[in-house]
Amino acid sequence: MQDRPLSLPHVFRRVERYFGHKTVVSGRVDGETAMTWAEVCARVRRLAAALDELGVPAGARVGTFAWNSHRHTELYLAVPCTGRVLHTINHRLFGEQITYIVNDAEDDVLFVDRSILPAVWPLIDTFTTVRAVVVMDDGGDTEIPDDDRIVDYEDLLWSTKDSGREFTVADEDTAAALCYTSGTTGNPKGVLYSHRSVVLHAGLLLMVDTFGLSERDVVMPIVPMFHVNAWGLPYSAMLCGADLVLPGPAMSPPELADLLARHKVTFGAAVATVWRGLLPLLDQHDLSSVRQIVSGGGAVDEALSRAYRDTIGVPLTNAWGMTETSPVVTTSRIGTAHDHYTHEEKRALLGTPGPAIPLTEVRIVGDDGQEAPWDGRTPGELQASGPTIAAGYFGPDGGTAAFTEDGWLRTGDVATIDGHGYVRIVDRTKDLVKSGGEWISSVELENAIMDHPDVAEAAVIGVADAKWGERPVACVVAHPGTTPTAESVREHLRDRVASWWLPDQVFFLDEIPKTATGKFSKQQLRSLYRTGAHP
Ligand code: ADP
Repeated sequence: MQDRPLSLPHVFRRVERYFGHKTVVSGRVDGETAMTWAEVCARVRRLAAALDELGVPAGARVGTFAWNSHRHTELYLAVPCTGRVLHTINHRLFGEQITYIVNDAEDDVLFVDRSILPAVWPLIDTFTTVRAVVVMDDGGDTEIPDDDRIVDYEDLLWSTKDSGREFTVADEDTAAALCYTSGTTGNPKGVLYSHRSVVLHAGLLLMVDTFGLSERDVVMPIVPMFHVNAWGLPYSAMLCGADLVLPGPAMSPPELADLLARHKVTFGAAVATVWRGLLPLLDQHDLSSVRQIVSGGGAVDEALSRAYRDTIGVPLTNAWGMTETSPVVTTSRIGTAHDHYTHEEKRALLGTPGPAIPLTEVRIVGDDGQEAPWDGRTPGELQASGPTIAAGYFGPDGGTAAFTEDGWLRTGDVATIDGHGYVRIVDRTKDLVKSGGEWISSVELENAIMDHPDVAEAAVIGVADAKWGERPVACVVAHPGTTPTAESVREHLRDRVASWWLPDQVFFLDEIPKTATGKFSKQQLRSLYRTGAHP
């Protein structure tokens, strides 16, 4: 067989040649832009030449702070197709984390949406390797700093011309993209995707028993393009020629509902918090085009899924994955074994993570280190393996704790698997709280609380929340003789962590329950909280 790399230049050539007439719609602060893939690809070629002119070295990281937009899509292609690495960053992180991530990745240049500049520019002098900041004007009215390091994206694009060169990435193991995930302890960790893994993952999402995406689809990734490549959907859309609808900064429920209806979206993907926000608006819009809604990154809320089915006839489909897994590893579907299920049982089944997609494998491992049976009852740590799953973390400090001796990824999730391979997540061992699809590190939050002069000890647990999925709750022990209040703790945290990290509830107790080894027993705290006997 021919030795041909699985690399993104193929994806570029395909979307350019076959699907130039299909469209990419992007929201802006002041409206929206519609382009054909042909226009987007022509801009990708200019951007590639512009990256050369900017002197971005091969293999260098190009950081992006951007909404889901055609410009972000252009970066998704031009950066890896020219052998550089696309590094997407969540601008909602706390400043110190952003600084850490940009410096750890050694980003050479940054591409920043104008409306996001206020989160990034004040940090510019903390970045040790960044030479230039390219501003993408998304209609925001943020003042653009008068500084030599600032470049305008459109000026950059139009001051160069398509060099007409062919994109080639001969080695499919070349790095294409980098995403950081919250480490359970310590600093965020980078996951470096290869061309091979990105292309394989894009193809896997097209399979009928995965998402069955096709040229007929209008795909709207609401999940941010800074979050695990928007679950890989932009690349899948390029491969199959689907139209893309990208909300840009238009992320409010009314704006999203309007985009879904007006552009006749067939396939939408977001975390449950987004779908929950849209629920009250569903009956005001014609959403009859929607064929599938993926609610990933967390558990599906049964009542929400039922409400979607009852209102627009489409229940929520769950998918499980992590930054380390590209991310999709499982997604649910109704197999022939479930044909006898009632309507309601089928809906509930779609709301579970489901079986592993082709080329990926999962197993559950008990405390004894033995693989647990696939009986739908016995829980174990979920482990994953496959060509779209990380083998380690970026950089020398990445650590190996997340990997088994035989090279499987330890996910930190506890799951059961049934006889048909359907995964259900039952708990999480990693010490993180997932709020609205984004991580809050309990450890970091605890450390910030313990900096409070009146606090002796603090433990943070995640508790179920109807709107956000989970929210952090702080359990605090005061220094003898002091009486800190919940408000003083929250006040203290305000300039130490991102605002959405602030614990909704702060409880004071005499002592934090400990494990046999003297660590905070989160399990005991969680069960105290659940039984209402909480601190
Ligand atoms: P993503 O949000 O894209 O899934 P992250 O790396 O941010 O990627 O988060 C991965 C973690 O999110 C998983 O380890 C798990 O704890 C949680 N998670 C993801 N999908 C699900 C799901 N379907 N059900 C329950 N938890 C999930």
